[in-house]
Amino acid sequence: MTMIRVFVLIAAFLVNSGVFETVNYESQRNHLLDIINKEIKSLEGHTGISELSASVYSAIKNTPREQFVPPDLRPFAYENRPLSIGHGQTISQPLIVALMTELLKISPTHTVLEIGTGSGHQAAILSRLAKEVHTIEIIPSLAKKAQDIFQKFGYQNIFSYIGDGYIGLTQHAPYDAIIVTAASSHIPPPLLKQLKEGGKMVIPVGGAYQTQNLILLTKTSDGFRSRNILPVRFVPMVREK
Ligand code: SAH
Repeated sequence: MTMIRVFVLIAAFLVNSGVFETVNYESQRNHLLDIINKEIKSLEGHTGISELSASVYSAIKNTPREQFVPPDLRPFAYENRPLSIGHGQTISQPLIVALMTELLKISPTHTVLEIGTGSGHQAAILSRLAKEVHTIEIIPSLAKKAQDIFQKFGYQNIFSYIGDGYIGLTQHAPYDAIIVTAASSHIPPPLLKQLKEGGKMVIPVGGAYQTQNLILLTKTSDGFRSRNILPVRFVPMVREK
């Protein structure tokens, strides 16, 4: 074999192994974080949040979104928009992921429940902030795919379930925080019940395939306080028949 051939083989191996890609994705991720921070600043009037906290910033910075999207969409992984993950579902827009995460004010002692695992990207970010994340997905093949990624990348504090998240997960309740990433026409009573007093829930409330309101609620001793944050568009929450 000539030297040139050996060189070409080594170069091809490195490109396939993703050594070059990682560098590239990291700078794209930093660029996206700059965009998110600018958008967060411009939305301060709605959200009351002026910038991402250091912990949320670093959780996003350390979570490779390209690993959670189908391979053919990887070139678009760091555009600030939702992307298709199959089965008519999407990985959420990075800005909205950042905002929902920030609103929940997660700390390292927290147990978090997510409804709508989808790609697993949001759960991965939460897992860097919380003690543990329990995430429920109703489409088995999406749940399986996300489980494979959690295992491959060593996300040991994410626990994934297949089922109807409307009814929550009583085994690990009450939760410090609940994040719902599919739109519901109302706040599911079982989820409210499974939230700790003082705990926070973010949820898009509104009709299917319409603009919904992203709502932040805090559970109180006699019910809950809620705040409208922003108009958003999520895929609908569906119910198990
Ligand atoms: N958090 C996801 C975004 C998911 S999109 C991410 O980071 O990629 C919403 C997801 O909610 C879809 O995968 C959809 O199948 C799921 N879903 C819809 N209704 C559900 C229900 N009742 N219980 C659990 N998951 C549900």
